[in-house]
Amino acid sequence: MRSAILLILLLALGLAMLASSFMLGAPTDPPPAGPNVVLIVVDTLRADRILAERNGVPVMPNLAEFAKKGRLYINAVSAASWTRPAVTSLITGQYMGTHGVVYGVSEDADGKVFADNINPRWPVLAETLAAAGYQTGAVTTNGHLQPNTSFDQGYEPARYLYEEDAPADRVGVHAQQLLRSARAPFFHYLHYMDPHAPYRAPKEYSELFGPEPTISDSDREVLDPENHIRYISDQSLIRLGRRRESIFQPLSEAGREVLRQRYDAECRFADEHIAATIANIRKFYPKTLFIITADHGEEFWEHGGTGHGLTLFQEQIHVPLIIVGPRVLPRMVTTVVESVGIYKTLLAYLGLNEPLPLQGSDLLAEAPGNGAAYSMTRGPSLDYPVDLDAALEASGKAIRDNGRGITEIYNLETDPAEQHPLAEDPARWNQVLDAHAAESERIRPPRIQPIQKAVDAKFVEQMRKLGYKKEE
Ligand SMILES: [Zn+2]
Repeated sequence: MRSAILLILLLALGLAMLASSFMLGAPTDPPPAGPNVVLIVVDTLRADRILAERNGVPVMPNLAEFAKKGRLYINAVSAASWTRPAVTSLITGQYMGTHGVVYGVSEDADGKVFADNINPRWPVLAETLAAAGYQTGAVTTNGHLQPNTSFDQGYEPARYLYEEDAPADRVGVHAQQLLRSARAPFFHYLHYMDPHAPYRAPKEYSELFGPEPTISDSDREVLDPENHIRYISDQSLIRLGRRRESIFQPLSEAGREVLRQRYDAECRFADEHIAATIANIRKFYPKTLFIITADHGEEFWEHGGTGHGLTLFQEQIHVPLIIVGPRVLPRMVTTVVESVGIYKTLLAYLGLNEPLPLQGSDLLAEAPGNGAAYSMTRGPSLDYPVDLDAALEASGKAIRDNGRGITEIYNLETDPAEQHPLAEDPARWNQVLDAHAAESERIRPPRIQPIQKAVDAKFVEQMRKLGYKKEE
């Protein structure tokens, strides 16, 4: 009799606990089994640097070696050619036409300065993983990714570590700090700024590739890290017809080569420190999935200029993409894929539901890619008359200048440098681009419209230092 009463009491207690767990929801669920996820974004890293050599010396030997452990995608495309829209695409899993984060900092007719922000209603990657029981953390170093630009959504303030323009060794220190207080499974976002101008890698990194070419004093002035961004902005304004004469002397071919060498030095510096951070994480957490990519590339006069954000040629939108981790078999993927699919890929890999339909394709699928890739830029601000859309298929590519009403078509197989636009009727490509634009608008949930946020003078100054606000 007593044991029957005890049994009833225990049953009642069990039912009460079950009911309360339903009411409380997630906290009583067991944490997901993992694996951990580390997303590494190297700002401004061209896809061709991973396997490149300079004077017979490999530029990024550590990442090239690491890529052999998993999937290396050699035809990955970013959804935009500069930081803010590109990183927004990575963390929302949406094209620019859908998330609407288009401009970095712009001024309206009344002189009010504003920046396009992620709508807080977007369930960004970190939020989705946090809701699934992942501990989240981020190290960011680009002014576009400050806590006040909404890129901190999904992170506790103490685990969103921002240090403006910090070099890779400092990112490593912050990554280590996150790791010390990590609770598996975790998601860490690490953003490296080294290949972004200006180039300040220690001299010995440049000298790894041999002595730098001899240059004149005027070249030296342009290459001075203090002037480098101003030089890029100056060249951009000239290219767009907004400035007639350069405020700098022309950079000689030797000067351009020094710039390329110093860029490679930054890539090498990042390569070593990223590898050290990966090794450290793997030592303590071998069950970790790593995704390494870039937000966009960098031009070195392939199409008449230097920098990024103003064109959609391959040097600016072709990005590295490496996925290494448990259950990812080594393979080189040659089909065209999109980095916008990283969010979708991660959720499929972790067995989580999409909070809303995500764009791009599952990169770990047997046959990844949708057969097409898209990229856009409107330039970094309203100051720049840039309005470009691009579509890529197996070997064909079209870039449409919406402002000028011109669509240029390239065959990337026979003309990978995009120097000879084809004399082909652009009607089919225009249809492809129109359909993509219409679909991007259609898919945006009505309650998640793009938002603009007023910004202060300090933020504008940071944007100017990065080259995203034109010199007055
Ligand atoms: Zn960037």
